[in-house]
Amino acid sequence: MKCGICKAGMEEKNVTYTEDIDQGVIVVRHVPAHVCTECGNTWYTGTVAAELEKLVDKFATSTGSEVSVINFAKLVA
Ligand SMILES: [Zn+2]
Repeated sequence: MKCGICKAGMEEKNVTYTEDIDQGVIVVRHVPAHVCTECGNTWYTGTVAAELEKLVDKFATSTGSEVSVINFAKLVA
């Protein structure tokens, strides 16, 4: 796979995804992604992106705390 921005090679690794929401921030750890070795561009597969969206939706409405830390590997895999 090639980076969509700089065309360099991408490697598969686990990253930490953060999403700003109205009342705070959601941090999702251990998310499988493809990361560009040159520019750091991060790309998620369709499945992972969909799961991330679901998690963010769920935690954005259910949590009262300002920072939610989620382990993607535990919840989804
Ligand atoms: Zn790149």
